[in-house]
Amino acid sequence: MSAHSSKPEWTPDDAGDEFAARVLKGVVGGHEELSTQPRSQTGSANRRRQLTVDEHVAGVLAGDRTVLARTITLVESNAPAHFDKAQEVLRRLLPHTGHAIRVGITGAPGAGKSTLIEALGMHLIEQGHKVAVLAIDPTSSLTGGSILGDKTRMERLSREPNAFIRPSPTGGVLGGVARKTRESMLICEAAGFDVTLVETVGAGQSEISVRAMVDFFLLVLIPGAGDELQGVKRGVVELADAIAINKADGDNLIKAKAARAKYNRALHYLTPVTQGWRPRAYTCSAHTGAGVADLWEVVERFTSLTQTSGVFEQRRREQSRDWLHTLVEEQLRAYFYSHPAVRAALPDMEAAVMDGETPAAAAARDLLRLAQGQG
Ligand code: GDP
Repeated sequence: MSAHSSKPEWTPDDAGDEFAARVLKGVVGGHEELSTQPRSQTGSANRRRQLTVDEHVAGVLAGDRTVLARTITLVESNAPAHFDKAQEVLRRLLPHTGHAIRVGITGAPGAGKSTLIEALGMHLIEQGHKVAVLAIDPTSSLTGGSILGDKTRMERLSREPNAFIRPSPTGGVLGGVARKTRESMLICEAAGFDVTLVETVGAGQSEISVRAMVDFFLLVLIPGAGDELQGVKRGVVELADAIAINKADGDNLIKAKAARAKYNRALHYLTPVTQGWRPRAYTCSAHTGAGVADLWEVVERFTSLTQTSGVFEQRRREQSRDWLHTLVEEQLRAYFYSHPAVRAALPDMEAAVMDGETPAAAAARDLLRLAQGQG
């Protein structure tokens, strides 16, 4: 496979071209993995033997960062050969997960998410937390580039031993990217990280994916711009447990306070996304740090309230159930569209439907029969 040489050195040995993970420029998490590679003295540069399931599990549970990174690489792999192994590792790690607070953070590009995550992450580390930062970047799978990965981000946080930053997995449709992020989150929890921040930027769908895997969902906005201008849909406001009006510093302070009041009025009329919790807007500055500790206090208040009421645990149970259905749908779709008989028949079926010769429902039924081997 000629593309082999262009793959990052931590690509599993038997990965084919379908192995899409790569290091994004400027993201320190990825570089760190590279730097921890033992430089092989034997000619086959940096090709390491694969870890066994036992080694993956033991290494993650011991908090070994290299093994943690390699285990995430394993679950991110699109190679069918890695799937069973990754699932076995996950199955064994699962009893050690669930003890972290999972926080989703969204907002338009430029709202200050990564700056805020850095400020919040540093604050959490000072408080003795271990913080994992994961990202879902829907643009990376479409364009091959990455809004989240194309600049040096979270420089201070990435140097902290108690922080672990992982760029967005690439390759595949959003559903697949979300699966990898969710599984990476569980692996980080098993490795002892007690706060996970899942960052996303997107226009609706990726926010829904993140909302479905976190306890608390934070929307980051900036003052002085309408929702439309910030690329934030009203539906995303409805998913939020809190809104942070960031960049509340300098000349922006007054505008930020006005935006906070405006959003608090708007939130008042929305049905809260979390039962028993009324979302509110807060101001903060990722630059000066003002309001950042207060934001975390909001998360802690939320956690203690929902844990007491049972809403916290109930949501997690429902998220796991919904996740099962999402995976079934995803795998059914993948099975269907990769089925040789379906692939062979699809172009003619599409043409027949477009030409008005075959009703779409009948074509769908025929294709499903082909996939079931009844064609
Ligand atoms: P992201 O795309 O949402 O991750 O946004 P970034 O964190 O990369 O920030 C975008 C720009 O806004 C950068 O130039 C930051 O320095 C700036 N920025 C972020 N937070 C603040 C803040 O609290 N105050 C001010 N004045 N600028 C900020």
